[in-house]
Amino acid sequence: MPNVRVVPNVKPGFLAPQLPAEAPQHPEDWSVILKDVRDKIMPGLTNWQSPNFLAFFPAGVTYPSILGEIFSAAFNAPAFNWLCSPVCTEMETVVLDQLAKSLGLPEEFLSSGEGGGVIQGSASEAIVVAMVAARERSVNSLLAKEGLLPVSPDDSEEIILKREDRTMEIRSKLVALGSSQSHSSTQKAAMVLGVRYRTIQVGHDTGCALTAEQLSAAVAKYESQGLVPFYVTATIGTTSTCAVDDLAGITEYKRSHEMLWVHIDAAYAGAALICPELRGQCQAQYLKHVDSFDVNMHKWLLVNFDASCMYVRRRADLIDALSISPSYLLNPAGLSGLVKDYRDWQIPLGRRFRSLKIWFVLRSYGIQGMQDMVREHIRIGEVFGELCRSQRAREAGIVVVAGPVFALNVFRILPQPVAGNAEVPSVTPVANDFTNQVYEAINDKGDIYLTHSLIDGIDCIRVVGANPNTQEKYLRRAFDIIVETTEEIRGANHA
Ligand code: PLP
Repeated sequence: MPNVRVVPNVKPGFLAPQLPAEAPQHPEDWSVILKDVRDKIMPGLTNWQSPNFLAFFPAGVTYPSILGEIFSAAFNAPAFNWLCSPVCTEMETVVLDQLAKSLGLPEEFLSSGEGGGVIQGSASEAIVVAMVAARERSVNSLLAKEGLLPVSPDDSEEIILKREDRTMEIRSKLVALGSSQSHSSTQKAAMVLGVRYRTIQVGHDTGCALTAEQLSAAVAKYESQGLVPFYVTATIGTTSTCAVDDLAGITEYKRSHEMLWVHIDAAYAGAALICPELRGQCQAQYLKHVDSFDVNMHKWLLVNFDASCMYVRRRADLIDALSISPSYLLNPAGLSGLVKDYRDWQIPLGRRFRSLKIWFVLRSYGIQGMQDMVREHIRIGEVFGELCRSQRAREAGIVVVAGPVFALNVFRILPQPVAGNAEVPSVTPVANDFTNQVYEAINDKGDIYLTHSLIDGIDCIRVVGANPNTQEKYLRRAFDIIVETTEEIRGANHA
């Protein structure tokens, strides 16, 4: 694997000419199919499990999780209701409670109280679900203030229509908020819901983190325009720089704005909560004040895609917003109130038995095994950070922008070496696209795979080595490739 190109060497449209235009009329032999997998499919795969895959955030996979996936596929039980395979529902509740305790999440998120966890397909889906619940909570609270709730069987048609009209009017005033460093999934969720979305600009002055002051100024501004800010995403580990938003300040601010739903997007860095010593850096002590939280085990916690673990303080918020019960979905178990029907916690109806692979991983590695992995990735991320601050890096023109943080390092590359001991502010704009030239040349070579990001308008390169195969020697080699490619391009530019 380390010797295979990370990025495949194929051109757009490479596949169709190799395959018949029509599906076969008659069964084919498995050996023929398998040969095609090797010859036609594998060459088009980006090698996410390579230790040289340093792009995006990782999508780790391990044998126990693959086995969980195989068992789940074999059982093939789309258990949307408890009765459609009771063990699927009950396993999900048990495993998510276990995970919450292992991550040190507040007891408000446990199923023994009013909260609970549910597995979503992705962090983006979790945000859509949280935003729907937030929307309904806000609308209902305003309707209640206006005397239009609760609903009564004796409501006149006039009241029913008035309630519907006011619901639509209120919805048209709602604004979802995110920072300029929030993942694009928050904006996409607002698109899906058809509500306004506003970005709060954050920059290097706050370490790319959203502060309570910025949030409160934005809320005040939109309220003064007659709008209703109802939702905000705060992030533990932003995509560009792994910044942690000011959860202390934001949750304090929330005390006076109860209806503002605070969702914590901890898609990648939430995995760090597995290590008690990293919880302070994640501001975990403030999680008990937020409405929802989500971490992707399929990024940094050894479970293959998909396993996005979402927790809410009040499961009733989700169920009130998403429950719809035609007669064919009703059964005595569901009506008894003694069981969960997870269809009411998500967008689709059917659902896979995803808790099985999480259970296999938790048991096969133990919490200690997961902690060891996270600690090792953080350690080698620090080694890479030291390389980026070394004399060799200065000679190459490498300037650190962020990190090492949660195994991520972000830097840019100046067209010339950093002179002597000169301090180069990490985000002083330099009119060049040299960083991009180097970045594109490295990805074209395909030996390692990096991603780009834009911070305060400055082009940067991100390096994150945190899949189960990452090792220090591969990060050291990646640094060599970055320096060598920089020198090659500098030489070519001066030739
Ligand atoms: N949130 C953050 C901070 C991310 O970095 C990402 C993706 O990397 C997402 C959300 C979206 O994750 P998903 O692909 O699970 O929707």
